[in-house]
Amino acid sequence: MSGVVNFSAGPAMLPPAVLAQVQAELLDWRGTGMSVMEMSHRDRAFMSIAQDCEQRIREVLSVPPGYLVLFMQGGASAQFGVVPQNLLGDRRSADFVVTGAWGSKAAAEFSYFGQAHVAASGAAGHYTSIPDRADWDLRADAAYVHITTNETVHGVQFQTLPDVGEVPLVADMSSDIASYPLDVSRFGLIYAGAQKNIGPAGLTLVIVREDLIRPVLPGTLTVNRYATVAANDSMLNTPPCFAWYVCGLVFRWLQETGGLAARAQINRRKAALLYDYLDAQDFYQNPVVQSCRSLMNVPFTLARPELDQAFLDGAATAGLVGLKGHRLVGGMRASLYNAMPESGVRALLDYMKEFARSRA
Ligand SMILES: *Cc1c(COP(=O)(O)O)cnc(C)c1O
Repeated sequence: MSGVVNFSAGPAMLPPAVLAQVQAELLDWRGTGMSVMEMSHRDRAFMSIAQDCEQRIREVLSVPPGYLVLFMQGGASAQFGVVPQNLLGDRRSADFVVTGAWGSKAAAEFSYFGQAHVAASGAAGHYTSIPDRADWDLRADAAYVHITTNETVHGVQFQTLPDVGEVPLVADMSSDIASYPLDVSRFGLIYAGAQKNIGPAGLTLVIVREDLIRPVLPGTLTVNRYATVAANDSMLNTPPCFAWYVCGLVFRWLQETGGLAARAQINRRKAALLYDYLDAQDFYQNPVVQSCRSLMNVPFTLARPELDQAFLDGAATAGLVGLKGHRLVGGMRASLYNAMPESGVRALLDYMKEFARSRA
C-alpha cells in the first residue's frame, strides 16, 4: 500500500486487495493474453466477467426475484432523468424528499419530464437533518417517492428506511450502496454511480422492480430504456468494460470479508471514532443532527476557518489526502467508504488532535 490515506468523496479509494488483483491480471486476464481493457465486450471472456459481477451483486445485496440488475452509463446524474423516462408512464408527478444537495438536484432534473413535488425538505443550503416522516406531504397518486439514502455533500443519511405505503420508493444510493444490509424488496428502484463505494467511475448500477417499468416517455434514447437494456444484458452498446470488471472484484471482496453485516459493523465503528471525537471538543464541529449523521461522509468545520488551509497542508504532509470539504459546505469532509480501513480513521484522528493541540 502506498503512503497516503485517501478520504476523497469520489472517485474514492478502492480496497487494496482489489487493486492488487487488478494489477496481477492487468496484462493477461486468466490466460487470454490480453487485458480486460482490450477485450471485445462480445467476447466469451468478458461475458463471463459481466455475468459473474451481476451474480455477486445479486448475492451480496440479496436482490429478490423480479428485479433487474442493469449496468448503465452517465452516472447517477443521468438517472435523474432516465428514471422518470422509464417509470412515469402517463403520470406527470413524483414526490421528492430532499435532504441534501443531490436530492435537490434530482428534483430539479426531474422537472424536464414532469412536476417534482417536494414532499419534505431540509433547510436549503444547510441540510442538517431529515424532516420527520409525519410531516412529509406524500400523495397517493405520485408515480414514486424519491429519496437520497446518503447525502454525500451534507453528510446526512437515513438510518432506517421510511415507510411510504403503496407508492414505489426510488433511491439514489450512490454513496452508501453495499455499506450495510439492505431489504431490496422495499424499493421500487435503486440507482448508484459506482465511484463511491463499488468501483471506478464510468459504471452506473440500476436495480429496478421489473413490473414498475412503464412505456418510456417520447424521446427516450434506446440506451436509456430499461427494458431494452435488460433484454440486451446491458450490452446494447459498448459498456464500461473495465469498470464493470473491477466492480465484480469489489463485490467478491465484500463476499470474502464477511458480506454486508460485517461491513456495516466496521463502518459503524469507524464513523463512531470520528463523531465521538468531534462531539468531545470544540476546535472542530459537525453540524448534522446525531440521528441523521452519515457513516460514509463526515463533514466538519474548524471553529477558526482561517486555519483551513494550514489544516489541509499539514494533513497532506501527514499523508492524509482528499479532505477538503465540498464548496457548498466548506471546511473538511472525511469520506469513510467501505474501503477505508479503521487505521486510516485513527491516523486522521491522531492528526486532528495534534493540530488542535498545536493551535490551541
Ligand atoms: C456523486 C453522487 C451523485 C452524482 O454522481 P455522478 O455519477 O457523478 O453523476 C449523485 N448522487 C449522489 C448521492 C452522489 O453521491
